[in-house]
Amino acid sequence: MKSSDVIAQIKSAVDIRTVAARYTELNRSGKTWKGNCPIHAERTPSFTLYQDRFYCFGCRKHGDVIQLVQDVEHVDFWSAIEILAAIGGVDVDSPQLATSTREAEILRQASQFYEEKLNTSDAQFARDYLQRRGYQREQLRDFHLGYSPDTFDGLLTALTSRGYEESLTDSTGLTATKNGKRYDRFRGRLMFPICASSHAVIGFGARTLVDGNGAKYINTPTTNKFSKGRVLYGRHLAQSHINKQGQVIVVEGYLDTVAMHLAGHQQTVGLMGTALTKHHVNTLAHLGTDVYLALDNDSAGETATRQAIAQLFPYTSAVYIVNLNGSKDPDQFLADHGDMSRSIHNATPGFTYILTAFINRYGVASASAKARICRLMSKYIRVVPSQVEQTELITELSDTLRVRDTDIRAELNGKHPRTILPPRIESSETTVLKTLLSAITALNGPLPLETGCRIHSAIKNVSRQSEALSTAIATVVSGAEPTPESLAIIIQQASVVSGEPVVQIERSLNQLKRIELDANISALAQRISNANDPEAKQTLRGEYLALITERNELPKT
Ligand SMILES: [Zn+2]
Repeated sequence: MKSSDVIAQIKSAVDIRTVAARYTELNRSGKTWKGNCPIHAERTPSFTLYQDRFYCFGCRKHGDVIQLVQDVEHVDFWSAIEILAAIGGVDVDSPQLATSTREAEILRQASQFYEEKLNTSDAQFARDYLQRRGYQREQLRDFHLGYSPDTFDGLLTALTSRGYEESLTDSTGLTATKNGKRYDRFRGRLMFPICASSHAVIGFGARTLVDGNGAKYINTPTTNKFSKGRVLYGRHLAQSHINKQGQVIVVEGYLDTVAMHLAGHQQTVGLMGTALTKHHVNTLAHLGTDVYLALDNDSAGETATRQAIAQLFPYTSAVYIVNLNGSKDPDQFLADHGDMSRSIHNATPGFTYILTAFINRYGVASASAKARICRLMSKYIRVVPSQVEQTELITELSDTLRVRDTDIRAELNGKHPRTILPPRIESSETTVLKTLLSAITALNGPLPLETGCRIHSAIKNVSRQSEALSTAIATVVSGAEPTPESLAIIIQQASVVSGEPVVQIERSLNQLKRIELDANISALAQRISNANDPEAKQTLRGEYLALITERNELPKT
């Protein structure tokens, strides 16, 4: 079965509304359904369903039912298919799905294998290691830590003896093959299973316990299910706490994450040793909460912190830096202090953190130093998403540097002239087009072909300002796949309840005709007054009269 057939089969078996209703409460609004977005945190509903698609006006995520499951559950395409097949009670006959399901099983089995091995006598030094760091085994239960035996093929043998294919132990990243010989990738290491939001194991992080035994940490390589830069470690355990507390704490390592959870800071996720990727930024931004950075207290950590602030600012200025007071990382901090609540409470706003760093570097003694800092900080101010945040940052900068806020605003506007805002009052054309679109989406049953043709010709020559709307209308009329921009417009209008659709469509078409005629009439009037040749003037007057007559004969609306 091809994947396009699988998609069709899934979509005919499960309705997007049924699936979305598992994640959020939906209420009808015109031809759409609305609810709080299950993908990002919000208090007013901007998640909308229209026909078989969703669109969120908050985080702008959009797509079909499969995409919805991928976005909410943070799983790959085939895992989403698996979830939907279970919901719809359908048997999907696809080799890719069979492989994906089998890979998920293997990863789960491997995690169990490692977890059991942590109890064996071979793993005594791994248990000692955890004990030395102050972790009690029962506290670690949710993380399912494990131990990979220091043998060539311990896991491989265990899996193949249970009937799993060797090709799949490779494709899940559990084993590797060199010179035709297959062997366990993780040997003699403390194992950290990495899970999707659904709690399914998708990969592993592994820490060596013996110096000189290769890299300190290694991870599952990129596989169908796992990509280090796309996952935040511990998120499946942290999500509900993140929502409850309205904040997320980002740390670098596995043990930092574990230590934070054990200390009661369960709103913590780990970067698994990488810098913040654009996927991480996207994920953090979509959480819609304050972001606290508690990266390592070294120069690499400081660089990563500065970069993270710059990456997050286009989404939010609510980024805070936790001061680790000389401890090298959060794990060490908790070993030293036991609790991080005070430091979290007193965390430095990201803007202040950057500003302080510049002041320390350049000083504020001279006007040129101040100007330089203003210029550097304006990069951060310029990108924040709201005017309110911008104003607040400008005030802080002007207070700290003792410069006038008007000078800062001049700096901000100087090189980047304000974009010209669209006119405040909507032209009657866009109003009519919006009503037309609402009416079309509200139709019960198909649009008559003849009406469709008249709509197409009516929206052909709209002004620049209305182009996006006319594209959206053309998409609905032709039944084509909408672009994200069109989808947003369609869904917006579909939630507007209008009068009887058929009547409304005719009225809108009339109004559009009138607008078009009015435009032509005034253009013609201009040409008449500009014309010098009396004969040409006469001809134009004839045309003018014809247009006036046509307009007067339009039905009154
Ligand atoms: Zn959203």
